[in-house]
Amino acid sequence: MNFSKIFNLTFFRILALLCLFGTLYLILQSEAGFLPRLHVGFRKLQTNNIKEIPEKGKPVDGSENPSGSRFLSFCFEEIGFSKSCSYRNVSLLDNIEIAMILTRANEIRGLKEKFSVSVSSLFRHTNSTLRLHLICDEHSKIIARKVIQSIGSLANNFVQVYFYHVDYVIKPVENVISYLKPHFTYKPGAYYSDNLFFLSIVIHRVFSQERLLMIDVDTKFKSDVSDLYSHFKNFTSQTMIGLAYEQQPVYYHLLHEYHQAQPDSLAGMPEPAGSPGFNSGVLLLELQNMRNSDLYQKLIQETAVKKLVQKYKFKGHLGDQDLYSLLGFEHRELFHILPCTWNRQLCHWWKDHGYEDVFENYNKCDGEISLYHGNCNSHIPD
Ligand code: MN
Repeated sequence: MNFSKIFNLTFFRILALLCLFGTLYLILQSEAGFLPRLHVGFRKLQTNNIKEIPEKGKPVDGSENPSGSRFLSFCFEEIGFSKSCSYRNVSLLDNIEIAMILTRANEIRGLKEKFSVSVSSLFRHTNSTLRLHLICDEHSKIIARKVIQSIGSLANNFVQVYFYHVDYVIKPVENVISYLKPHFTYKPGAYYSDNLFFLSIVIHRVFSQERLLMIDVDTKFKSDVSDLYSHFKNFTSQTMIGLAYEQQPVYYHLLHEYHQAQPDSLAGMPEPAGSPGFNSGVLLLELQNMRNSDLYQKLIQETAVKKLVQKYKFKGHLGDQDLYSLLGFEHRELFHILPCTWNRQLCHWWKDHGYEDVFENYNKCDGEISLYHGNCNSHIPD
């Protein structure tokens, strides 16, 4: 037996295998991404189910999570509405539950940056315990995860991040959205993701929480989100949704036909006497009330929506906020009005499109800004 021949053959085979595995390892690693700065001892994300990133320097062993102490920890979960991570001894009641939608982040330029600005400003200004529910498509999930990993060190607190695939979120409420959409969209059916513009209306059927904040990704926090959350204290059993007025005369415009028939109506008119309509960039959703209210259930039925739209001769294009605006004209008690400083909208489109004379009546907002909303791609100041 030629020992050296066998040895050479085996040696090269092993070498070739090592190279192959090495390359595979590098490819997989770059796909999943290393976790920067979050903790000592890098730990790669796995590709299935629950993702956990331990606190700085400590392994995650959840049962001993000292709530109250400064704690930096993340939990990732892919799909599922009620599952949680292995460590959850932070009281559920203390958590601020926030939902954000991020889709098509790989196609739409600047969306990833907007999301990054929004979430990092959120983290930076609060010490509260956050549960962040991210509704994403496949590509956007990867982008969102990378963003959160890179800005995670800004958090002073305990953060849990949950990912939900958009299909799973929309599926149970698709039938409702299908009849809302024609009234409040430019081109119904243009994008599947357009369905998400209506999600907040029926999100109480998807998420089991008692209450939920829903924040657009084109926002920037200048204050502590817990101050926003504390507005829930002003809610009565009749209040469903907290939100700020729309700061442009868009509903004044859309109600033009209605005003010709009803010249004295205050619908779509500016404050203080009027009701300018709502903006849905920042929503406080009292899910428990939404579930319990017979009135709300009735109002979002197909026939009721049709009647409402007909009454106001309305054709909208802004999704959920169109419905809220119309409902607000009829049932003011369903809504808690947030101060303009908690949704400072920066879009000035209607100022340059025929409404310069009345624009300021809608757009004025005194006081220190707590949250900027860079709607219609507006630049957000530092
Ligand atoms: Mn927005």
